[in-house]
Amino acid sequence: MLSHHTLGCSPYYFRYGAAPRFGGGGGGSRGGPPQGKFGNPGERLRKKHWNMDELPKFEKNFYQEHPDVTRRPPQEVENYLRSKDVTVKGRDCPKPMMKFHEANFPNYVMDVIAKQGWAEPTPIQAQGWPLALSGKDMVGIAQTGSGKTLAYLLPAIVHIQHQPFLEHGDGPICLVLAPTRELAQQVQQVAAEYGRASRLKSVCVYGGAPKGPQIRDLERGVEICIATPGRLIDFLEAGKTNLRRCTYLVLDEADRMLDMGFEPQIRKIVDQIRPDRQTLMWSATWPKEVRQLAEDFLKQYVQINVGALQLSANHNILQIVDVCNDGEKDDKTLHLVIHLLLRLLEEIMSEKENKTIIFTETKRRCDELTRRMRRDGWPAMGIHGDKSQQERDWVLNEFKYGKAPILIATDVASRGLDVEDVKFVINYDYPNSSEDYIHRIGRTARSQKTGTAYTFFTPNNMKQASDLIAVLREANQAINPKLLQMAEARGGNSYDISIL
Ligand code: AMP
Repeated sequence: MLSHHTLGCSPYYFRYGAAPRFGGGGGGSRGGPPQGKFGNPGERLRKKHWNMDELPKFEKNFYQEHPDVTRRPPQEVENYLRSKDVTVKGRDCPKPMMKFHEANFPNYVMDVIAKQGWAEPTPIQAQGWPLALSGKDMVGIAQTGSGKTLAYLLPAIVHIQHQPFLEHGDGPICLVLAPTRELAQQVQQVAAEYGRASRLKSVCVYGGAPKGPQIRDLERGVEICIATPGRLIDFLEAGKTNLRRCTYLVLDEADRMLDMGFEPQIRKIVDQIRPDRQTLMWSATWPKEVRQLAEDFLKQYVQINVGALQLSANHNILQIVDVCNDGEKDDKTLHLVIHLLLRLLEEIMSEKENKTIIFTETKRRCDELTRRMRRDGWPAMGIHGDKSQQERDWVLNEFKYGKAPILIATDVASRGLDVEDVKFVINYDYPNSSEDYIHRIGRTARSQKTGTAYTFFTPNNMKQASDLIAVLREANQAINPKLLQMAEARGGNSYDISIL
């Protein structure tokens, strides 16, 4: 491990930067039920003990790879995933499907899709459909707007069509839990649109509205139930519905449900569902509380991240921020940053694993820094958008195979660049947004490895301080007090910002 002894212009640099990660961190409201608001929900619901031999068997793998998908060369698949910034973690994930017809959905579903006039599946659909259709548990890190509703609802329709018909007194086969009434209603509209043609019935169950109509729908028998947790618990306790037939469970916006204090309710509900169900969990962020839910509820799951939407940093990255401020003058600060950068690189290059990407803001700065470093004998190469594709490919290859362990780059390399063994990312200039920051530092710690990100933060970047703090907090990183001071000086209420 690199020692941090000689680095940094702030005395907190080492202490905070290299300190063990704090537990808990940001968020604040996560985890605890809002006592009093819900009383003790589900008090009368007993945890079920399952005898797997007695439960009726059911099918959950309906996936048959389309010949067009089978024929598609691995390189093309890889390029697709990379260009859409999709990352997949977990074993035996099927290939994505890039066209609607490759999903083999029933005709009545395809007819509804055709009417929308969409060009192709969204990335989360492309990778989510084959996964969900194959019966696997999955986590999707995606936000509203990514097409995630259809990513789980269309496989749900296929799942339901393969199950025995509902009988009198049966509860839903597919349960979608959502944090808010608005989201639940939105999901149900989609379920109704696609379910209509397939004669599947759905109901939306949420608090703050009369119970009567919701109960009547449930009692009539529905294949799909979309619910907020509190009202569903009410109905389960009162015996208005049950989850004996539920074999397809969706947790939508899991992070938000936890933020709203629904964890105890969710756990009570999930306890009522047979453990060999298929579970799909969706979240915009991936903090440790959500990871814990996934560990508890999902089995050997595959995780899909759509990078462009991923707003939280990989937790395997140690993030160190050096706040540099040498007087009022910009050029003095710049001088200091270069000085610090070179000292940092000396330390890094003495490490056995030392592959490093340095990000600059502009092409000009990239060229200047590359020239200066090469002149001083550093094994560095530059890459940016003005270089020809051929030159970029060549530079990347040199970097990939370790001939030049230092890559100096603009944001052309911040997304999609997948070099397995990058150990360090240095933000020589701070990027334009915290999303870019997350992508840049995500070039290290690929596939479960660890990595370190160093960031030089100057008064010019002050307006980004609050956002950066939110990212650090979400990842349970120690925070340089100078950064906090900067955020405060700007009047930002940085303490309350959690990344969502
Ligand atoms: P969602 O993320 O599920 O809230 O979906 C966001 C919006 O994207 C909705 O208006 C959908 O109708 C739309 N949508 C879903 N799938 C696609 C697609 N493949 N192409 C274009 N738009 C889509």
